[in-house]
Amino acid sequence: MGKTIIISNRLPVRVEGNPEEGLSYIPSEGGLATGLGSVYKGGGNMWIGWPGIYMTDPDLKDETKQKLLSENMQPVFLSKKEIEDFYEGFCNSTLWPNFHYFNQYAIYKRNLWESYVAVNEKFRDAVLDIAEDGDRIWVHDYQLFLLPQLIRDKLPNASIGFFLHIPFPSHEVFRLIPWRKQLLFGVLGADLIGFHTYDDMRHFLSAVNRLVSLGNHQGQINMANRIVQVDPFPMGIDYDKYAKAAADPETISNEVEYRTSLGQQKLILSIDRLDYSKGIPQRLVIFDLFLKKYPQYQGKVSLILLVVPSRDKVAQYMALKEEVDLLVGRINGTYGSMNWTPIHYFYRSLDLPKLSALYRMADVAMVTPMRDGMNLVCKEFVASKLDKKGVLILSEMAGASKELSDAILINPNDKHQVADAIKTALEMSLKDQRRALESMQKTIKRYNVHHWVDLFLTRLDQVTHQQDEFRTKLIDESTRQKLFKDFQSSKSQIIFLDYDGTLVEFQNSPEKAKPDKELIDLLKSLSEKKGTKVVIISGRERHSLENWLGSLNVDIIAEHGIWLRQKGSKWETIDDLNSDWKEEIKPILEMYVSKTPGSLIEEKDFSLVWHFRKVETGLGELRSREIFSHLRFLSEDMNLHVLEGDKVVEIKNAQVDKGRAAAKWLKDQKYDYILAVGDDRTDEDTFEAMPKGAYTVKVGGNRSSASYSIKDPASVRELLKGLL
Ligand code: UDP
Repeated sequence: MGKTIIISNRLPVRVEGNPEEGLSYIPSEGGLATGLGSVYKGGGNMWIGWPGIYMTDPDLKDETKQKLLSENMQPVFLSKKEIEDFYEGFCNSTLWPNFHYFNQYAIYKRNLWESYVAVNEKFRDAVLDIAEDGDRIWVHDYQLFLLPQLIRDKLPNASIGFFLHIPFPSHEVFRLIPWRKQLLFGVLGADLIGFHTYDDMRHFLSAVNRLVSLGNHQGQINMANRIVQVDPFPMGIDYDKYAKAAADPETISNEVEYRTSLGQQKLILSIDRLDYSKGIPQRLVIFDLFLKKYPQYQGKVSLILLVVPSRDKVAQYMALKEEVDLLVGRINGTYGSMNWTPIHYFYRSLDLPKLSALYRMADVAMVTPMRDGMNLVCKEFVASKLDKKGVLILSEMAGASKELSDAILINPNDKHQVADAIKTALEMSLKDQRRALESMQKTIKRYNVHHWVDLFLTRLDQVTHQQDEFRTKLIDESTRQKLFKDFQSSKSQIIFLDYDGTLVEFQNSPEKAKPDKELIDLLKSLSEKKGTKVVIISGRERHSLENWLGSLNVDIIAEHGIWLRQKGSKWETIDDLNSDWKEEIKPILEMYVSKTPGSLIEEKDFSLVWHFRKVETGLGELRSREIFSHLRFLSEDMNLHVLEGDKVVEIKNAQVDKGRAAAKWLKDQKYDYILAVGDDRTDEDTFEAMPKGAYTVKVGGNRSSASYSIKDPASVRELLKGLL
């Protein structure tokens, strides 16, 4: 294993200052910096990112670079224009609003996109300065969607992980972005793609399926020559850090000071960065409603509103700040009295001992974002509750709600529900508070940020290992030469070739996959070679195979082994096959056709096929699973086999398969060279029926028992040409 390289938009330190007064390096307190601290500081590892400052002076840049490099960090400097167009522009005014379902704020401008591409390339160059094939590379977040593929293009064997820290929206929303396909192909350069929640993962897989037509099996996407694994990894906090801070004397003295000024009233805590996704104005409107609906709490409860300044150069954020200022003023003006302030409002960032004092003091934390990838504030609040007193009100729209089901979960758009939740929280018994906090603490402690890092990197290593296994099977130049040499030096050869997906690419309708001239010529030359037998072994019905290939000197196995034809002889079939069962099964399939537009039934002599290639993505898969479970018991009784192919479900007699058919060819004559090529599950039967020493080749990146793999039908044709 090589070194590990972390890449994120921002480095885990912020550089501040100027040439005259000198620079200062302020380490980030954020969860990511803590979690990855032990990783990037080790050995020859590195963290690559923007140092958070705009610099022009080359000497100063150099000084900064040297200082950062000495601490395993490599800076990527951004120009003023790049900060505007890439960071404030495409990242925060296109991707951020779209991904948080605030599409009304999203702007789609070509020049911003171009800057996004250019900056991703800049990051790629920084990576290539230090990376080598075999290194482990972990790319973070939406600012760098294109980076995985950009790196893959240059370092095809690197182990690349990607983690998205914000939500991934429904494909209905994501597809509004003009550059959606480029974004998807960019991130698909990774080996492992992680999200906070299962829902984000689902949305991503559905976008990949619908927008770039790549399906998946249990989160595994099969690309032409490798796999991409997608999985949820909910990010945690550094639990011990927050638990320890809550017991620190400085925190406790802060609490005493705050309490002295606030008196004994109950406290509700609200902490977020200034961002429309956090629902701050909506929370204020709800607090207003609460005071109106439950006037008995006026004078007894205050809201502590901490808003951390953020992105104040983007127009929406300035407007949001004004809106919050106005609402706070209005509520305080309406309800406040000489000895009670309804809202204590702070627009700044606080250090940990102050923040921790607020977490300790709060009776209720209101974490009610409209949309949030994870939300760490709610986890920090829970970890700080050493006395196990306090209640968390948490939005269902935060990723954290999937783990913290013991919180009071609310929909932030349902104002009355949330106002009532505040009352419930304030009146909750100490026993119930303790029970909920204990349960949530247990979860947060176990799934902490260190666990998250370990889990992701371990999974990345596993996927990379799988990828290596696949790569070693991929036919390379020396295997090709061996295959050719053995072919030339053998006296009798047999070649089993599947048709669809092996010799030709899949088409929207089965008739369109007719062999082209190149294929006909190739099969002709191969089958006319002395000593060489070519057997086409397909799931297709026999007549089209005969029409297309019947004039060539090839043998044909049709319908997955039901019909067999030696060149010059008639079609034969296995004895005692019957098709009476079709009468019972066909009406069932017809029912599925009638409720699934685009699907059709193909009837073969001894089998029935339900095709769904033209059915709306997702619906076809759903129906095929329904057919599967519908037919499961029936097919056992009737000795039938239900097969899943590429966008088809096929029902046939259980006693036939491609392997048994192929075995007949090997029984009567001995061949000293055997090659079998196929692409789907039904070809596995062929591979397994081949004797030791045979070359078995699987087309595409799925798991297979074949001894070799090859990229696509075009490469299969190249291989066959090579034999000639
Ligand atoms: N935070 C902070 N100082 C403050 C207020 C908040 O350092 O004055 C931190 C807080 O402890 C948390 C982070 O800011 O770790 C906010 O993370 P979260 O995931 O909740 O929201 P994000 O800002 O990443 O969208």
